[in-house]
Amino acid sequence: MKIVAGGLEHETNSFSNISADLNHVQRIMSVGDDYVRGCTGVRCMMGGFIDECRELGITLKAASKVTITPCAPTQKDAYEYFRDLFVEQMWQEHLASPIDAIALNIHGAAMADGYPDLESDLLEKLRERFGSDMPIGMVLDLHGNITPRMLELSDVIVGYKEYPHTDTYDAARLVIKLLHEMVVGGKRFYMSLTQLPWHLAPAFGVTLSGAACDVKEFAASCVSADPALRDVTFFHGFPYADFDQAGVSVTAVAETREAADKASKAVADYAWSRRHDFATPVYSAQQALELAQNSPKPVVINESSDNPGGGTPGDGTHLLREMIERDLPRSAYGFIRDPEVVRQAVAAGVGNTIDCRLGGKTDSFHGEPIELKGAYIKTISDGVYINKNPMGAGGVRKMGTTVLLQVGNVSIVVGTNRQQTLDDGPFRVVGIDWQDMDVLALKSAQHFKGWWNTRAKTVIPCDSPGIQCADLTVFEYKHLNTGYYPLEAKSEEY
Ligand SMILES: [Zn+2]
Repeated sequence: MKIVAGGLEHETNSFSNISADLNHVQRIMSVGDDYVRGCTGVRCMMGGFIDECRELGITLKAASKVTITPCAPTQKDAYEYFRDLFVEQMWQEHLASPIDAIALNIHGAAMADGYPDLESDLLEKLRERFGSDMPIGMVLDLHGNITPRMLELSDVIVGYKEYPHTDTYDAARLVIKLLHEMVVGGKRFYMSLTQLPWHLAPAFGVTLSGAACDVKEFAASCVSADPALRDVTFFHGFPYADFDQAGVSVTAVAETREAADKASKAVADYAWSRRHDFATPVYSAQQALELAQNSPKPVVINESSDNPGGGTPGDGTHLLREMIERDLPRSAYGFIRDPEVVRQAVAAGVGNTIDCRLGGKTDSFHGEPIELKGAYIKTISDGVYINKNPMGAGGVRKMGTTVLLQVGNVSIVVGTNRQQTLDDGPFRVVGIDWQDMDVLALKSAQHFKGWWNTRAKTVIPCDSPGIQCADLTVFEYKHLNTGYYPLEAKSEEY
């Protein structure tokens, strides 16, 4: 048996003013063997594909893969370039020796200009080339906005169950297993989708405890109770993608249509009955720092509203400004993105000081630049480290050139690339031992908890203004169905 894998991962935030162009996509694309090499031994999706294929004796080949850091819809020509190349690569692989199935590593909330349901467009092009009989399995992010068209065009959809996404590897293995059962065992799977009129902000989606954890466990109990049922995923959706089919949904994969329909409805019913339990307290920068003062240390404050993992610029200044004004002892911010300040610090050199305008340079949501006088340059780093978070553990993270500025009591890590903080890496690369700090601030909505949850004594979610803030009423949507809970709908039915 032979499988070809690959895909495009992008979570679209329609309120971002950054978008991926053709140049960017060409530059970050990994192709074939490089893609496989980079993921071997890593607990990521492709790592799951690799290990399951090896165990089942399946030959795995890779087409291209591109992971675009979340931002605005991908530019049309960039998406079309990737799509056409991707389909052609798969086709050439098929001509070289026939493939038996396609495994897609894809997100579910990707949009490109002119393609609001990007995943379905990609599937359509694959179907045009390979016909309706080629088994296609997809691993989707828990934040996918799942559409009926995606189910029509694929055979197996499995989403991650965890947020932090610590189970991408497991979801990928299951997709390969099910494709193997289709090809070698001659099985056929039925899928069911129940879409709910509900927008769930990522700030309320953690599955380590609380309502999202309960729904995840309920879905797992349904799978355990019915041998015909192979997977149920509770998708949280991504409400910053301004798309009329965005929202919470449940998918089920089963050996019978009845089992799939029954499970997706049962889990959707349960999730809907718990929807009022999801919202948990979030705090302004001022409130978060007040709370931190009297909380058990170390405290981690996560500025979830400027989480680059959800398409924000990563240069938001609301929380950092407040920390500097309070001159908080034993505090560190890790990290804010500002390539201009990094270049300035590198030019000045370690041991010197600079005056600079830090952050707040991308848009009007995330605060004004902070004027710094005499910021001391403590460290200059290449910003490369190995990720310790169970989500993608062992993978290389690249912050780009990174500097540590000391401003009074506050240690400020300034990086070049747009990414969220998953573990202590952004502190480590500049020589900060997090255990020396009382207050650590970072940009992430939930993923950081995969590592920090067992280390921080207190976690305080900071919801300063930003394009991933918890309050969805601040956005001017053009396409999103705003009749959904909690924006307008008050109906008890769905
Ligand atoms: Zn996600």
